Formats: sequence, C-alpha cells, structure tokens
Amino acid sequence: MVMEPVHGGMLAVLPEDCRQLLQDKNISPAGWALRFVMNLPGVSVTLSGMSETGQAEENTAAADSEHSLTRKELSRLERISEILHKKIAVPCTGCRYCCDNCPQGLDIPFLLSAYNDYRDEAAALGDKNLAVWRLFRLKALAKEKQPSACIGCGSCTEHCPQGLDIPSYMREMSAV
Ligand code: SF4
Ligand code: SF4
Repeated sequence: MVMEPVHGGMLAVLPEDCRQLLQDKNISPAGWALRFVMNLPGVSVTLSGMSETGQAEENTAAADSEHSLTRKELSRLERISEILHKKIAVPCTGCRYCCDNCPQGLDIPFLLSAYNDYRDEAAALGDKNLAVWRLFRLKALAKEKQPSACIGCGSCTEHCPQGLDIPSYMREMSAV
C-alpha cells in the first residue's frame, strides 16, 4: 500500500519546466504521479486524499487508465524528480501531523516554508549569506515560537510521514 502518492498535493502543481517534460498533456500532473505509483511492482493499493469532486474524478480516471509506463515516460518522470529535488530543500507537504506533538507548539510547516525560501534563494544566488533576508520574517514571531525554541526532542520527525529531520533544519535556521 502506498500513501500520499501525490505528496500531499505537492505534485499536483508542477513548475513550468517540469510540466513541459510531461509527455501526454491530457494527463494531469497528479494523474502522472498516480500512474507512477500504480506502476511500481508490489503496489496493490494507492491511497490518495481527496477534498474535491474533481480530484476524485481525476484519481478514478488514473486508476482506470493504462498504468504501465514506457522507459521514455519513466525517464522523463525521473528528470522531473531530479529538478524538484533541486528546487525544494525540504519536501514538507504541510500535513501538520507533526504540530500536535511538538512540546514547544512550533508552527513547523510555516518555519520549514521559510527555510525552503531561504535555501531556494541561496541556490539562485550561489551564496547562503545573501539569502539570509528570506528568514527575516521569523523575527516577527514571539521568541518562544522561533526555530531557536526547538529543544531537539525529535517527536516531530517520529510523526512526520516524510521522515524529515526537522530538528536539524531548526538548528540551522537558529544558527543563521
Ligand atoms: S524537535 Fe523541535 S520542532 Fe520537533 S517536536 Fe521537538 S521541539 Fe518541536
Ligand atoms: S509532518 Fe512532516 S510533512 Fe507534515 S507538516 Fe510536519 S514536517 Fe511537514
């Protein structure tokens, strides 16, 4: 069984350079993500959260379609994966499963979104020091809600479906 095949919706909206790589534009990005998972050997159940009728229709269309992917299609999806990994430092989906378990009550997805902006800017400029301003908005938070308030207990990582090493990002932001 595979959960979050569309990565909490992240794969439903692709950057233009990734979208261009999709071969059949009649299949949505979410449809491609589902087809990729259904194509994996040993996968018999794919669980994808849906909040709108359109998403249910999209998912059933993907389930009804031919799942087997050609070598060319797979290689294009791999290329998209490489691009996305370069663009997104921390693949947080914003599910908030971590938040209820943070003893400090930190808004973890919000903090990670600032961290991604910082890393994205640093990659674009080729210098982390020039990207520090992307973290300035965190200064508006109360001290006890800033990354430095993280006590490194690791409870968030235990509850994160993506297994993100959240304490390390908090440490880095705190140091910056
Ligand atoms: S490691 Fe930090 S962010 Fe994670 S639950 Fe503990 S205090 Fe919260
Ligand atoms: S549980 Fe993981 S993916 Fe979900 S919001 Fe928290 S850090 Fe992001």
